[in-house]
Amino acid sequence: MMQKTESIWMNGSFVPWDDAKVHVLTHTLHYGGGAFEGIRAYEGKNGPGIFRLAEHVERLIYSSGVLGMTLPWDKQQLIDACIETVRRSGLQSCYIRPLAYYGYGKMGVNPKGNPVELIIACWPWGAYLPHEMVDLKVSSYIRIHPRSTVADAKIVGHYVNSILAILELQGTSFHEALFLDDSGMIAEGPGENFFLIKDNVLYTPSLGTILAGITRRTVLQLATDLGIRIEEKKLSLADALSGDEAFFTGTAAEITPIRSIDHSVIGKGVVGPISKQIKDTYHQVVRGELPEYEKFVTYCR
Ligand code: PMP
Repeated sequence: MMQKTESIWMNGSFVPWDDAKVHVLTHTLHYGGGAFEGIRAYEGKNGPGIFRLAEHVERLIYSSGVLGMTLPWDKQQLIDACIETVRRSGLQSCYIRPLAYYGYGKMGVNPKGNPVELIIACWPWGAYLPHEMVDLKVSSYIRIHPRSTVADAKIVGHYVNSILAILELQGTSFHEALFLDDSGMIAEGPGENFFLIKDNVLYTPSLGTILAGITRRTVLQLATDLGIRIEEKKLSLADALSGDEAFFTGTAAEITPIRSIDHSVIGKGVVGPISKQIKDTYHQVVRGELPEYEKFVTYCR
């Protein structure tokens, strides 16, 4: 069971954790038309600091807009609500989950006519992939096709694709799945973006079929600042298997080095020097320990 906090922000006010409930005929529960975020706060020198909060809130507004929602709160109000949620929890570090959904009112796929609602919860959450390195299985499902949906929006229903890929791993030794796109190129993980290092160049699949991860953006910037050459391009499985190092990125997964794909080991099968450098730097950045990136951290008090 997840660890509770005292209260959850629900449509503008705080309600006790156990009372934050919806009707069973809530529209999003049936059709998946909700939008959400995953954000982390880390303990820093000024208490809990939320990493890249404004960018997460912007993506939430974008994703909910894709679904035809107009959130009754503006960007600043949503930022303040996240800060207040963390502050009230008393936690020094946590995961923050805003979710915008169509509420209870009428059934039928057309969501219009239902109230647009929003919750923000937070709770303690350690490593999402609790292994030093992960072994991946190429999913038998392809990543949701960008012409079937708006692939770069963080939409609830998209995660059916992710759930199916993860369910395939049950009873195997694989830790996580890897999606290819419809042309057989590497897309992303069920909740992570993919990076590859070959001959000291950092590669990541270009945008188009993937979520434009905020960690992905951070890593591309850090790598550039560290003097590592970066390239966004289509990557094949053969590219990945001939690489020296690989890792997943995500707010929940942070930087998780990849050991193998479908039992083929990448490089030496150990955490490589560039992965380590990026991972270590990322951990300093999110905690506000490097002055040049302090602007990414919003302290809660
Ligand atoms: N891809 C998918 C499918 C995800 O769910 C996530 C997690 N939000 C990511 C990539 C990584 O995105 P971010 O770095 O913004 O957390």
